[in-house]
Amino acid sequence: MSHYDPRSLKAEDFINDEEIQATLKYAEENKHNTALIDEILEKARPKKKGNGYVCTGLTHREASVLLACDLPDKIEQMYEVAEDIKLKYYGNRIVLFAPLYLSNYCVNGCLYCPYHMKNKHIPRRKLTQEEVAAEVIALQDMGHKRLAIEAGEDPVNNPIEYILDCINTIYSIKHKNGAIRRVNVNIAATTVENYKKLHDAGIGTYILFQETYHKESYERLHPTGPKHDYAYHTEAMDRAMDGGIDDVGLGVLFGLELYKYEFAGLIMHAEHLEAVHGVGPHTISVPRVKRADDIDPEEFDNSISDDIFEKITACIRLAVPYTGMIVSTRETEEVRSKMLRLGISQVSGGSRTSVGGYTEEERPHDTEQFDVSDQRTLDEVVRWLMENGHIPSFCTACYREGRTGDRFMSLCKSGQILNCCHPNALMTLTEYLVDYAAPETRDIGYALIGKELEKIPNPKVKSIATQNIADIKNSNRRDFRF
Ligand code: SAM
Repeated sequence: MSHYDPRSLKAEDFINDEEIQATLKYAEENKHNTALIDEILEKARPKKKGNGYVCTGLTHREASVLLACDLPDKIEQMYEVAEDIKLKYYGNRIVLFAPLYLSNYCVNGCLYCPYHMKNKHIPRRKLTQEEVAAEVIALQDMGHKRLAIEAGEDPVNNPIEYILDCINTIYSIKHKNGAIRRVNVNIAATTVENYKKLHDAGIGTYILFQETYHKESYERLHPTGPKHDYAYHTEAMDRAMDGGIDDVGLGVLFGLELYKYEFAGLIMHAEHLEAVHGVGPHTISVPRVKRADDIDPEEFDNSISDDIFEKITACIRLAVPYTGMIVSTRETEEVRSKMLRLGISQVSGGSRTSVGGYTEEERPHDTEQFDVSDQRTLDEVVRWLMENGHIPSFCTACYREGRTGDRFMSLCKSGQILNCCHPNALMTLTEYLVDYAAPETRDIGYALIGKELEKIPNPKVKSIATQNIADIKNSNRRDFRF
């Protein structure tokens, strides 16, 4: 018999169905309780402390009440608080990354994914190390510094040794002024020993989407293969943390199950990591099911509107203010624009979701994992971010300086973001502008950097950052960081 316990290491205790059902009932009963909603919103607001701001976040029950609320003025207030948290706490930086698909061999039967084993008409492909190097050079030539590697689950074709070889290859390529400085890894749930190996290979975040927290639906959607095991999948982040990985990334594939259920489960998962390991998730991704080869998203009857999707984004921001939030090119420019205001801190740009896609002239569709809605180039995304008041950042300093897990959080709480992350963003943006940008993007960027340098409070940091930026412009010196 399972019972709700965020400290338990058993999936069905920390993602407890009874507790989720009780939460949904409580949220439904209180969705128009404006006194309670105001109280919850007040709790979520950032509070000034010393030089910085602190946020308390919300419990899964409180956040679920906000998500259930359909009063337009209260939703507007949620959006204001979400934006306030984002700006006060994190700032207007947006970190850029690209996915790199290594292999689409897969032994699982996921009903929403075109890489499922029964799909016999997509070409199966696995990059050789030479091909990985070629993809990395193409990505460096776009200006990328941070990748998320993706692979299907296949112990014969994609064993951990293959993934480790790929990581080594990626880090070893130094083409012109380029370098990949952070490799995040999105591969299937694995053992503590394998997580240790990934940690030792110097990965950034280990990302694993839960897909759905609803156990029965999970088992139905994953009918065959090792991914069928709900407990093994749900407990993966605990094994990753036991293996030494401090930064883990959660996510739900929205559209598979009822979004209110998924939201409660997601926040409970974050609470569990905090309760057991003393640090919450580094990031949360919010993918939605997309059309792909033999996958028709219409077949999943829980798809959500853009409005609900935006509300989910804002409620996640309010509930877990210290967690980065990622939106990929699954979403259109229009949706991404709105989500950036509501708390997103990382976006992908110039993505190809097929194995070997970056070295092809034309966007290949035959091995794509999903249709890409935002098909702009990285340079277009960078320019668009700047024109909308954001600072595109290629920074990878934190984990390289040992600021993982709760150490990043204390940086934010002590108000040091403007003396650390902000200049790092400006220096890495300068690298991008000098080495890769179109002339128009460069002009917009230089003007922005000039203005943003003024916001660095510590005069010494400001002077060092200004000097480093001049060095990047006038020489081949790169990779400055605080
Ligand atoms: N194979 C690994 C696993 O199973 O966790 C990770 C890699 S998989 C390439 C990355 C993610 O893509 C999956 O976790 C899933 O959420 C997402 N995905 C799969 N099919 C999708 C679709 N049709 N639309 C949008 N996202 C999809």
